[in-house]
Amino acid sequence: MIKGTIVKALSGYYYVQTAEGLLTCKARGRFRLGGTSPLVGDRVCCSVDANGLGRVDLIEPRRNWFIRPAVANVDALVFVAANTNPVTDPFLIDRVSVIAADAGCELIICINKTDLAHGGQLFAIYQQAGFPVFQVSAVTGEGIPELRSALEGKVSAFTGNSGVGKSSLLNCLLPGLQLETAEVSRKLGRGKHTTRHVELYALGGDTYLADTPGFASFEVEMIRTIPKEDLQFAFREFSPYIGKCRFQDCMHLKEPGCAVVQAVLDGEVPKSRHASYMRLYELSAQQKSWEIKQN
Ligand code: GDP
Ligand code: ZN
Repeated sequence: MIKGTIVKALSGYYYVQTAEGLLTCKARGRFRLGGTSPLVGDRVCCSVDANGLGRVDLIEPRRNWFIRPAVANVDALVFVAANTNPVTDPFLIDRVSVIAADAGCELIICINKTDLAHGGQLFAIYQQAGFPVFQVSAVTGEGIPELRSALEGKVSAFTGNSGVGKSSLLNCLLPGLQLETAEVSRKLGRGKHTTRHVELYALGGDTYLADTPGFASFEVEMIRTIPKEDLQFAFREFSPYIGKCRFQDCMHLKEPGCAVVQAVLDGEVPKSRHASYMRLYELSAQQKSWEIKQN
């Protein structure tokens, strides 16, 4: 029995990183029948046949898993943002922050292109909300060592709006990877090639980066399946105020005596975070309860 992590899945083969190196595996038929197929990121137990071909025998319980992109056991989602060209809408970050909270993974905010513009308001919002925020530049290398050390020992997946520099940053962290950036596509005179399959790259030790730049954002549809009453718990900076509102069933929208709304007025909770909360609450409320139960 050999233990390892699936780092790539392609054409029915799984590539498993083991202590002894990369093992090419076929999955057992039973996984397909049972509806659980192995995913990139899965920790698995394998056996090897006489020809040296591996077989995935067992998938260890997952910490979490996503369908789009298809990846399991993500420790940290890294939202790559920029304060210029293009400026990231905080709502996009907040959506992913809810997805991260729901999946039980950390959210790291990375504001790129600091050679052009510093994080400014974006930096202030997420630092105040209590997230790790890094200001980096894929061009000058500023902040890259700090980001790298925040990713140590974790499986991280990058997300963020198009053009913020996800491919450039992955290339920076993984020299030799050479993902196609928008700059390269422009020189080649074509649209950016965006891969839709996920691959994990080892950064050394137990550190892996999922190459997911083709995915603008993680399964936004997931938010619709979160009951509206639970959404408040996905906003970490609300927690000191929850339970202190006048009404016990307060949903922190605009009820009188709401401690969260008061914290926004007092400048303790970023206004844009609360605005995103209200928007997502509306989205979730539109979902019929039977649809939530089905998921
Ligand atoms: P993606 O769509 O998020 O993968 O973004 P790309 O990596 O393709 O980058 C989009 C554009 O921004 C390209 O023209 C890059 O050269 C440029 N870019 C990426 N990072 C930086 C940076 O830190 N500073 C500057 N000035 N430009 C950058
Ligand atoms: Zn309230």
